[in-house]
Amino acid sequence: MVNINIVPPLIFIAFSAFPLLVNYFLKRKYKRLIEKLHETEDDYYHQFIFVSFINFDCRQHLIDKRECGEHCSYNYQQTLVRFMASAKSSICLCMYTFSMRDINVELIKAHKRGASVRIIADQIMLKTDVAKHNLTFLKNSGVPLKVQPNNQSMMHHKFCLIDKEDRDSAKMFFGSMNLTTQGLVSNFDNVVLTNNSTMIQRFSEEFEELWANF
Ligand SMILES: [Zn+2]
Repeated sequence: MVNINIVPPLIFIAFSAFPLLVNYFLKRKYKRLIEKLHETEDDYYHQFIFVSFINFDCRQHLIDKRECGEHCSYNYQQTLVRFMASAKSSICLCMYTFSMRDINVELIKAHKRGASVRIIADQIMLKTDVAKHNLTFLKNSGVPLKVQPNNQSMMHHKFCLIDKEDRDSAKMFFGSMNLTTQGLVSNFDNVVLTNNSTMIQRFSEEFEELWANF
């Protein structure tokens, strides 16, 4: 005969263990699904660059390659350079205008190490000597690039996708800033760096649409 005193504890243990067992078997069966459900926005990183009052004295810091503090324009430039330098498989740069020498160096380096580098820019780059020289330099290095073909509208985007095909290393930046010295030291501007997959997917579609039609 069952000892009546141990029935309540047994019932309690059974009820306590049941959710744990269900959780264990569900986890085993739907491991990937559960991982996906847990992939919330908080799993992505966001880094912000704001060019503002404190950056308007940083022009010399870019020339001297020395930082005046955490938010120095030189630090911001190096953040963007490292971003480019980390590309393993591809860089898709869509930028109204750009003329940062260090960025160009990284674009050419990436192209030479076999990454797919593609650039889309605006016609404005054909109209100023510095920008035109920049485009010619990249073109002569074999980097595929396209320029917005008509004068009716501006190719005003400022974004860059890195390794967009690779789920683990894909990342991007976008914002108001052109990749120019002026953008780093003279304007009020912003750049957001992120590995958010939803944003990368949407910006990739936009890049491919423009690349196919320019
Ligand atoms: Zn500075």
